[in-house]
Amino acid sequence: MVFVESRGNDGKRPKEVSFSQAILNPSASFGGLYVPKSLPRIDLEELKGKSYKELAYTVVKKFGVDIEDEILKEAVNLYERFDDPNNPVPVVEVDENLCVSELYHGPTRAFKDMALQPFGYILSSLAKKRGENYLILAATSGDTGPATLESFKNRDNIKVACIYPQGGTSDVQRLQMVTEDGKNLKVIGIKGDFDDAQNALKNLLGSKRFKESLEEKGIKLSAANSVNFGRIIFQTVYHFHSYLQLLQKGKLKEGQKVNLIVPSGNFGNALGGYYAKKMGLPVDKILIASNENNILTELINEGRYDLRNRALKKTTSPAMDILKSSNVERVLYDKFGPKRTKELMDMLNEKNYYELTKEELEALREDFDADFCTDEEIKRYIKEYALDKNYLLDPHTATTLKLYEKYKSAPNVAYSTAEWTKFAPTVLKALEGEDKAYPDKEALEIISQRLGVKIPKVILELFEKPVVHDTVVEKEDIEKEILKFL
Ligand SMILES: *Cc1c(COP(=O)(O)O)cnc(C)c1O
Repeated sequence: MVFVESRGNDGKRPKEVSFSQAILNPSASFGGLYVPKSLPRIDLEELKGKSYKELAYTVVKKFGVDIEDEILKEAVNLYERFDDPNNPVPVVEVDENLCVSELYHGPTRAFKDMALQPFGYILSSLAKKRGENYLILAATSGDTGPATLESFKNRDNIKVACIYPQGGTSDVQRLQMVTEDGKNLKVIGIKGDFDDAQNALKNLLGSKRFKESLEEKGIKLSAANSVNFGRIIFQTVYHFHSYLQLLQKGKLKEGQKVNLIVPSGNFGNALGGYYAKKMGLPVDKILIASNENNILTELINEGRYDLRNRALKKTTSPAMDILKSSNVERVLYDKFGPKRTKELMDMLNEKNYYELTKEELEALREDFDADFCTDEEIKRYIKEYALDKNYLLDPHTATTLKLYEKYKSAPNVAYSTAEWTKFAPTVLKALEGEDKAYPDKEALEIISQRLGVKIPKVILELFEKPVVHDTVVEKEDIEKEILKFL
């Protein structure tokens, strides 16, 4: 299968690239993204009875990727590192018409592992085969950092530099990064917030001097963020898996449609669901759940993407604190083509907003609906589900429940994107109903005792592990630190 560019071609880059080209070098003409030229069709019959890793192998193969079988098989074998090697993604019945697909049973307890585990192996194998060396730069507000480090740790031909805002992540998230030992990893705290970290990274990517320094060392830059199609491809798989699980549980009849409820930020998870639908999965609506940074709610309900009077709000679901949601562009491309996509994205860059026509909005709403939760609503849902249904949710997953209430009369799958253990202080506040701030470790222990839920070993061990990355610098000194590391 070939990949084309979401904003059309600039006459300098190739018009079509292979999967491996698209993932090694993910930036396309005019600042656009690579998108599949067409999507494969999948017959559900073919997938029945397969284990998760066989399912992943089969679905990814359908895309006609130029990755050797052996590499792909090794990559999907990494799902065996999840809690239950035979069932890495449990699908749990929580209410009459609600099953929760738990995507967080991997090494860093958040759904980023679903894609980053196999992706890291594939990228490193490709680099090795080509005899090339890559630097992956990541700026993180919490979940991408740990998952990226865990994915590339001690892998050949790849180095990772990860920048996080000091004081801007949870204790658990910070410890997951600063205790991660690997000779090819560098973790740098900066004095500033997540925006500062991201801006520092952008400056670095645009710096001629930095590029020249890398060239001298024979190092190329790549990206492991969710615009990389190598991540998206693995995010189509679990939508098929959820559907098959619901069939097996008797929650669905053959061919019956289901709604997918997705806590969304950069829209990678939701895009995976949209592609799965287009590949033949019986999906009715993809329901986009947001927090108070509800730019996607506005887009899907009103057809406007308007950043003009918005500032990013810090919420209790920080992985969804995003205003520029990158993967929406791939849906625009799929529905309206490259010319219109370029027009809309140019407008967003220049004027900070765009607006869809009435017909375009209707086309979008055929597949999507959206709503958002305030922090207060998130806390209410966490408490309600813990006490009434004996099911513990993290603050990101809790945002799906408002949409479930709206679509209760039909079968739904909600995606759980993080384990409660990553956000224990928020969860405890929700359970207690008061605003007392606990450190992570204490909150973990109280919740575990009170509700009889287990804390996984990988989380408990964090508090004992030695800190191996203690660098904290001013924004201006990041470049120097990274070059020193290389
Ligand atoms: C990354 C993340 C999200 C957002 O997923 P997107 O694919 O970027 O929409 C939601 N919840 C958690 C816990 C995450 O880590």
